[in-house]
Amino acid sequence: MVQKIRALGLISGGLDSTLAARLLIDQGIEVRGLYFSTGFCLSDPNKKEHGSEGPRGNLCHEALKVGEDLRFAVDVIDVSEEYLDIVTNPRWGYGKNANPCIDCRMMMLRKAKQLLEKYQARFVFTGEVLGQRPMTQHRATMRQLEKGSGLDGYLLRPLSALRLAITEVEQQALVDRTRLKGFTGRGRKPQMALAAELGLESYPQPAGGCCFLTDPVYGRKFHDFLKHLPEGQKVTQEDFILLKIGRHLRLSDRLKIVVGRNEAENNALEPFARNRWSLLPVDVVGPLAVLEGDVTEDDLKFAAQVVARYSDGKHLDAVKIAVTGENTERELLVAPLEEEETQQYIFK
Ligand code: SF4
Repeated sequence: MVQKIRALGLISGGLDSTLAARLLIDQGIEVRGLYFSTGFCLSDPNKKEHGSEGPRGNLCHEALKVGEDLRFAVDVIDVSEEYLDIVTNPRWGYGKNANPCIDCRMMMLRKAKQLLEKYQARFVFTGEVLGQRPMTQHRATMRQLEKGSGLDGYLLRPLSALRLAITEVEQQALVDRTRLKGFTGRGRKPQMALAAELGLESYPQPAGGCCFLTDPVYGRKFHDFLKHLPEGQKVTQEDFILLKIGRHLRLSDRLKIVVGRNEAENNALEPFARNRWSLLPVDVVGPLAVLEGDVTEDDLKFAAQVVARYSDGKHLDAVKIAVTGENTERELLVAPLEEEETQQYIFK
């Protein structure tokens, strides 16, 4: 029996990696998918559910669904712990927002390379398209990723192969280069046309990034968080989850308040309230809020005014707010902060 050629693919669940896999499968290549769960992915099967689902909503399990639809196995590999160091200290810096794309891709490709032997696979492929993404899909960066990952010659981009230097994979006729594509640029029409040609009907709508680190508002909160992180304090996954929940207002260099925007976010904030100062309206419906940072008595009063502003008592002269923390509980009667003043503290 002739043994099939096997390839490992970085499968995000988006259209491009789906098409790349399909092009290879149609050539008789046996595909195994790898999904790296960073904890920041929009389509993260390991993602803990919270009130806020990030900028583009919940796309859970898309990578697994692609594998199911195209009949190949997808390994979900949890890299969230080591990703903390990558995201806070990227060797090649950030993209436009909080996205350390080059470091991120490098890590994934290096890990994929390590798995080649385990799966007796001959090469790695991705759904990258030359010129599509500003940070990682320039010709030079794509070369950098090939070399830096140790996959030089064994990293195939089926959607852009005809525009890239011929790889060992093609030289050795492991794949038929003539059946690969030469897509370039940011436009998605060729991919959509190919999807239609191949009869792929349901796939997530193409968008600007595969994780919420590319979201501008999240990016601002993220960089603000790092800037105000006390020296020597280690970051945790919880820190970054909290950045996703609620409305964030920086009240001073020392202090930030996170205010739930709905019931789901209030529930999501509850675990964070256990080891922080928290605030909740007493007699009117309103949000749960937690404080991040060093707190003075004046800060508590000011934070209570913010919470009053977001409560159903915002038009009242005074609102009673329960303030809990450091094993104490008290009630403060405060005037809701003016809308205009509140706005100036919000991350937008
Ligand atoms: S957008 Fe960038 S940082 Fe986010 S998963 Fe993709 S490559 Fe990684």
